[in-house]
Amino acid sequence: MPSADELIRLDKAHLWHPFTQMQDWCAPEHEPLIIVSGEGAMIRDQHGRDYIDGNSTIWTNIHGHRHPKITAAITEQLGRIAHVSALGFTNEPAILLAAELIALWPRSELSRVFFTDDGSTAVECAMKMAIQFRQQSGQPERCGFIAFDQAYHGDTMGAASLGGVPAFHDRFRRLGLPVQFVRSIEELRGIAADDCTAIVIEPLIQGAAGMKTWPPGMLRELRAWCDARGVFLIADEVMTGFGRTGKMFACEHEDVAPDFVALAKGLTGGTLPLAATLTTERVFRAFLAPHAEMKTFFHGHSYSGNPMGCAAALASLEIFRGEQTLARLAPKIALLSELLAELKATHPRPIGDIRQCGFIAGIDLMADSASGRPFGGAEQTGHRVCLAARQHGLLTRPIRDTLVLMPPLCVTEEQLRAAVTALGAGIDEVCGSG
Ligand code: PMP
Repeated sequence: MPSADELIRLDKAHLWHPFTQMQDWCAPEHEPLIIVSGEGAMIRDQHGRDYIDGNSTIWTNIHGHRHPKITAAITEQLGRIAHVSALGFTNEPAILLAAELIALWPRSELSRVFFTDDGSTAVECAMKMAIQFRQQSGQPERCGFIAFDQAYHGDTMGAASLGGVPAFHDRFRRLGLPVQFVRSIEELRGIAADDCTAIVIEPLIQGAAGMKTWPPGMLRELRAWCDARGVFLIADEVMTGFGRTGKMFACEHEDVAPDFVALAKGLTGGTLPLAATLTTERVFRAFLAPHAEMKTFFHGHSYSGNPMGCAAALASLEIFRGEQTLARLAPKIALLSELLAELKATHPRPIGDIRQCGFIAGIDLMADSASGRPFGGAEQTGHRVCLAARQHGLLTRPIRDTLVLMPPLCVTEEQLRAAVTALGAGIDEVCGSG
């Protein structure tokens, strides 16, 4: 077995980490954490130190690490076959999962599930279906999209075209698809959208923007706007799906039925890469024709509908039912609100706005919240606070100077308290108390 030091040497020699300035990563003084194991809401590093998984391993984990039911489901499937191609064949977990996902949207017209591998491809798939639908429905000119300022929908070129975070997306903008960006529902009102096939939104809360919440009622208004203009609504529930907002899906809060839904991250409870694009029978029917008419959806990935991922997802949904995950989450959401209010009260100067949407929280750090003066970006205050909180047993990753707290839904009240205490200690150490 290579030592931890040897692994780090090899990592710095050969790995390229996502969303990471590799010059900093490879600097001799940087000692990366090697995560070696996890249990429930806790994860352990190479030194045997345990941490609360404060951002659910980049927003994916739902029921905790190594949940025995998910582990058993994956192991059982592995004992049969690890993978089955969805091109020309089918498999039981994928069939059952598709039916269960549709059943989770009873008040919608959603009826079809297309499996992919990650959130980006789930969104990309919805985009391609929305374009091809128009081509096959006598409206080929409707090939554009509308997206929101600061939106984040993934990193593949199509999904990135919908991205509105300048630092991530601007350099590829002119190479992408025709996308019009708007800031609000008000700005949409003047837009005819004749050339637009779909609008995409992160419902209730924009994640990568810095956990920015939409005003209540906005999603419902957006649905009405789409209906008036015949524009498809794509709900990107990649972050918000699977209980994160307090309900199974964010759209349920406003009783909105989208035309497409993108699911990923929490779909397998955060265990294996799997994603799904859900759509309606109306969309699906436009792709039905004799082969020679070439209306097939010519899109697919080698691991589409992977049975281990689907088995994990089925187990995750069973845990939601069996453990009453959502009912047991409600008091934790209330406790999180209390703890965040206390945190702000004890750190009035460096804490600006705190936004909470169910079990997702964003905490803005400021040089002086009274005057609204931000920290300089180069100071990397959010990053330094998270490093300091790490010494107090919490792992999380900021978005610029917004601290993110969204632990697995299974986190205990005691762990939740410890997580907020660790953030407070990190803020004290980096920004000073008061
Ligand atoms: N959509 C949203 C709302 C996301 O938050 C993310 C990832 N953070 C994605 C899409 C892309 O998902 P993935 O990283 O799995 O490609």
